[in-house]
Amino acid sequence: MNIRTRVAPSPTGDPHVGTAYMALFSLCFARQFGGQFVLRIEDTDAARSSRQSEQNILDSLRWLGLDWDEGPDKSGSYGPYRQSERLDIYKEHIGKLLSRGHAFHCFCTPERLSTMRAEQIKNKQTTRYDGCCLSLSNQEVQEKLASGQDYVVRMKVPEKGTCIVRDRLRGDIPIEYAQIDMQVLQKSDGNPTYHLAVVVDDHLMEITHIIRGEEWINSAPKHMLLYEYFGWHMPELIHMPLLRNPDKSKLSKRKNPTSISFYERMGFLPEAVINYLGMLGWSMPDGEEKFSLKDMVKHFDLERISLGAPIFDVDKLKWLNGRWLREELDDDAFADRISEWAYNRENLKRIIPLVKERVDIFSEITDMIAFFASGLPTLSESDLTMKNLSVDQTKKILQFALWDIDSLDIWDRDSLNKVFETLGEDLELKIRDVLSPIFIAISGKPVSPPLFDSMEIIGVDMTRARLKNAIDVLGGVSKKLTKKLEKEYQLIRSSRE
Ligand code: GLU
Repeated sequence: MNIRTRVAPSPTGDPHVGTAYMALFSLCFARQFGGQFVLRIEDTDAARSSRQSEQNILDSLRWLGLDWDEGPDKSGSYGPYRQSERLDIYKEHIGKLLSRGHAFHCFCTPERLSTMRAEQIKNKQTTRYDGCCLSLSNQEVQEKLASGQDYVVRMKVPEKGTCIVRDRLRGDIPIEYAQIDMQVLQKSDGNPTYHLAVVVDDHLMEITHIIRGEEWINSAPKHMLLYEYFGWHMPELIHMPLLRNPDKSKLSKRKNPTSISFYERMGFLPEAVINYLGMLGWSMPDGEEKFSLKDMVKHFDLERISLGAPIFDVDKLKWLNGRWLREELDDDAFADRISEWAYNRENLKRIIPLVKERVDIFSEITDMIAFFASGLPTLSESDLTMKNLSVDQTKKILQFALWDIDSLDIWDRDSLNKVFETLGEDLELKIRDVLSPIFIAISGKPVSPPLFDSMEIIGVDMTRARLKNAIDVLGGVSKKLTKKLEKEYQLIRSSRE
């Protein structure tokens, strides 16, 4: 059998380490058997997907050395590899399901659905579609369609019985059909949902092994039913354990930087990041902790994946990175890698316009630009004690700024300027006061080269990490305070709309 695996990220945010984790295991498995590893972009959620995010994912995977054989930027006989370019294919397949009676039109309004859900929650029932539109006659459906009523297409699900999900790592997992929703396959805008698109694409792209996160196990019965309805052979399923924060919660950017670009920006070596991801839940036959991608491909074996919750521990990654630096790079290579990393021409050309007017001799630049390349500034509480702000106000500014930047679509000085102007107005504070802790958080000093330009250059991940670092220096935000701030933040957000 020709082994084909894929990684299928949705381009809706930062390039996530979880994507790299799935890509790594999918690549190793395919390469070991001389098969192909495919990159597919799952961008059917038009409102949340962006080309910028797609580009960042491609750049990050490439930086890590996880190169794909087929993908949106490469030719291949199974394309297009971007779901937004495959909409006709999905329409055709939804048409087949409808005509064979495996799917149905649903005209229920959002209001009816939310009343139904509320009722089910009240009665402690599983929340799922109640099948109302299944009883419509063909003629009624045609009439509603002709009158232009909004609709979605849902899949049919057996009322009784048990679905056995076969997972290579976990064995058979029984899931009752009664727990499975009549999943929407086509949204009211005519676009497919993930569940339809993933099945159609995995089949048409001849994927033989699906390696993905365990959060998808509960969706497997829907996918299995769709394979059955289409009369297709189901690929093998391998659900990887979820990466976790040191406190065992699901890895999240609120607690740990999760973006690959952050680790690149911090000066980790891609070899070490790959090595570390490989170590999470997997081991070399000889137990050696330091290994390369090539070693991993050579010795890869699904049987050595362990299902315990792998903890993404930045300190351990740092330790491993140190080993790579010291053991693998001679002085020449070290010098090359540093200049590739931050002290390259492209970076300097972005920074120079910000400092040129402020210096007379080169040596004055060093101190001024150190924060562009450094990691998290070393701060004390007194650095963050602001003349016109209480500690609580400072924390609030930093936290609101964090939430604001999380919802920014465009990362540039003008958007940042707008964020902080609005924040000042919302909190009824002078912009100067709002920015004072931000200067410290970002540059470690009360004055720095122009703040928004600097933030644009250091990037969203590093900005987020430094704002969070400043909050931590102030003692962090307790659960109780988070709740209070969230409420207040929601209020100002809704008054902005
Ligand atoms: N687009 C899905 C995600 O980003 C892919 C899940 C899968 O691999 O099936 O998680």
